[in-house]
Amino acid sequence: MESIEKVNCLIIGSGPSGYTAAIYASRANLHPVLYQGIQPGGQLTITTEVENYPGYPEGIQGPDMMINFEKQAARMGADIRFGLATKVDFSSQPYKVEIDDEKWIEANTIIISTGASAKWLGIDSEQRLNGYGVSACAVCDGFFFKGKEVAIVGAGDTAAEEALYLSKLCTTVHMIVRRGEMRASKVMQDRVINTPNIKVYWNSETHEVLGEKKVEAVRIQNNVTNEKVEVPVSAFFVAIGHHPNSDIFKEWIHMDAEGYIKTIPGTSKTNIEGIFASGDVQDKIYRQAVTAAGSGCMAALDAERYLGEKGLH
Ligand code: NDP
Repeated sequence: MESIEKVNCLIIGSGPSGYTAAIYASRANLHPVLYQGIQPGGQLTITTEVENYPGYPEGIQGPDMMINFEKQAARMGADIRFGLATKVDFSSQPYKVEIDDEKWIEANTIIISTGASAKWLGIDSEQRLNGYGVSACAVCDGFFFKGKEVAIVGAGDTAAEEALYLSKLCTTVHMIVRRGEMRASKVMQDRVINTPNIKVYWNSETHEVLGEKKVEAVRIQNNVTNEKVEVPVSAFFVAIGHHPNSDIFKEWIHMDAEGYIKTIPGTSKTNIEGIFASGDVQDKIYRQAVTAAGSGCMAALDAERYLGEKGLH
């Protein structure tokens, strides 16, 4: 393996967490190099307006917010590059990361901020109307459908939590559950069932999201009776889980059964010293831009401390 470059602090990922880590690491003089990955800006680049990030009293478009994050990190001195981490070798210090299947970088510290990706049903109309009423984030987009009828698909804790969130804003929440039971915890299920304006469709699958330019209805089919119904709704929320983008680290970094990186509680430390994780790749509960940014800050501070202790900074 031929290394062509050695860096002090390598940040992988360009969502709120990666850029915040870059801002802090730059200001601490760690000269971070950040690789943006396949979707520069991360999940926020596929949302519309962000109204719950503090500091933007009028709200801001998700893509614009991520441009601001990038500009701020660049102004602080971060070396931001387009490229994808394709392989890693964490067997010894300095740690090695392959970029774009072609070159290797050696790093004294690494901050993994590769995020998570929402799972989609995989039907054409879902992609066509994405951003026009189809969303994978009720907390981000639910507010735009205040006073309207909406649908949500999924039956885990996320779907239950999001259905409850939507029930406080929307007149009716049509919840589409593919089996005759929910996976969500009992307490969440009870809350869903006992909320009068959540209507659960058991054993039901989504066939099509209907609408020319925006969501107007959803067509579902009962997989026991085969009965089809069209439910008029203004939005269709998909809450069937996320994939943490952690596959390339599996051989080295401890993860839970779903692939979320385990960090030592209260820190961003992984099982390998000098390698830190922040943002959605290690958080399946909160998944907010502001919590991701906060954990990116933690990772940079942890990296700075580690380099100081090792006499590398
Ligand atoms: P889960 O994997 O737990 O649940 C996904 C749900 O989506 C399942 O009910 C599944 O159905 C359904 N689903 C998957 N694919 C499809 C499909 N193609 N069509 C229809 N339905 C589909 O994901 P979550 O995001 O809900 O939760 C992830 C983890 O995070 C869990 O461990 C959860 O407990 C945790 N969590 C905890 C929270 C809290 O404690 N406050 C809040 C949110 C999440 P099926 O059941 O039939 O497989």
